Amino acid sequence: MHRMADFVWQRLADLISGELKQAELSLLVSPHRHLSLLTRRRATMIVNRVRLIALLFAILTPLWSVIDLLVFPYPLWLTLAAMRVMASAVFFSLLLHYRPNGDLFDAYRAMALLFAIPTTFYIASYSVLSHYHLTGMAAAIGAGYGFLPFVLLAGLAIFPLTLLESMLIASPILLAQGLAGSLNWATLDWPTFVGAFWLLMLITSVSTLASMSQLSFMIALVRQAIRDPLTRVFSRRSGEEVLDLQFTIANRSQAPLSVAFIDLDHFKSINDKFGHDAGDQALLDMTGIVSSNLRRGDMLVRWGGEEFLLIMPNTDLIQAEAALFRMRSIGFGMRPDSTPLTASIGIAERSADQLTDWKGLVGLADQRMYLAKQGGRNRVMGRTQAQEH
Ligand code: GH3
Ligand code: MG
Ligand code: MG
Repeated sequence: MHRMADFVWQRLADLISGELKQAELSLLVSPHRHLSLLTRRRATMIVNRVRLIALLFAILTPLWSVIDLLVFPYPLWLTLAAMRVMASAVFFSLLLHYRPNGDLFDAYRAMALLFAIPTTFYIASYSVLSHYHLTGMAAAIGAGYGFLPFVLLAGLAIFPLTLLESMLIASPILLAQGLAGSLNWATLDWPTFVGAFWLLMLITSVSTLASMSQLSFMIALVRQAIRDPLTRVFSRRSGEEVLDLQFTIANRSQAPLSVAFIDLDHFKSINDKFGHDAGDQALLDMTGIVSSNLRRGDMLVRWGGEEFLLIMPNTDLIQAEAALFRMRSIGFGMRPDSTPLTASIGIAERSADQLTDWKGLVGLADQRMYLAKQGGRNRVMGRTQAQEH
């Protein structure tokens, strides 16, 4: 029995995601072990999609009033039109209010609102329509209002979500459907209702699978984008996201945050004299040495060709300078001709240098790296050295 369940689960997992490793499958079930980089990217994507759909619905919802006007009797079409204008206004304010900021809870709220608007509209329109006895064309269009939950649950598919998240979003809509049914308990056509409910559940399952497969694709992409393919240290893109996050955290808690800009000296001559492969090997050796000498929490980023950024959270200038002096004495490996490979290093720190954003922090470290180059290379330039300069 257990093996059977394992087998089914494995097959299902293969179907959803060829991209993920076995250990990563739990990432598709609930978000609590997601890396912050993944969470931020996912939050951004969710909010962008909410805004796209909100714009679409803000425009389309009131337009349908033309059809209502043609087929429904007088007070009914006007009531529905008023409700549509209101829904449209809420869709617009959703579009204006939410901007992608990488915060997952904001993304959840935006998504919940996006689904709440048509759900409310659905319940309200259903109770208005139930007071009328429509026939012919009007009855057909009136029945069309009942399709809204199907659209909503199918729409779930455009978001990259875990199983848990999909179910949390879908359940209020399914509940609302059940509620609409029980409001018309006496007159309800039960076989039709059960059939429709079953179809809703099927659509929910398919949408959930679609959301999870989008998520698995995203996880695989983030995993690739996180590291530089040659050296396996962090890529510039992920470095920027981490810097942004660390800067905000350090700012809020008034903690120090240092960065070191490391540019290898006369690197081009390795390529020129010994070939590009020798240059690549020198980069691999250098990152290997630096990585094995990092403290916990430090992060090495390949910022450009032979330029690296070392991010050191909770590290003040004195500690950072000490760390980089130590690193310099360990060295950055050898050139193919067995002379030491050296680097010019600039250090900056958030609070001591009074910087207000991470770009300024990196820019200052970069400037000091240039001072180190001008000063004759193979040296560390911190705030004190730069002032003496
Ligand atoms: P400086 O001391 O002034 O920094 O001299 P430099 O030669 O290091 O500086 P420059 O910026 O002029 O040259 C950097 C060189 O690094 C140029 C480029 O060919 C080489 N490079 C950049 N990325 C790679 C890489 O991935 N592999 C190899 N082999 N070389 C690279
Ligand atoms: Mg350079
Ligand atoms: Mg260089």
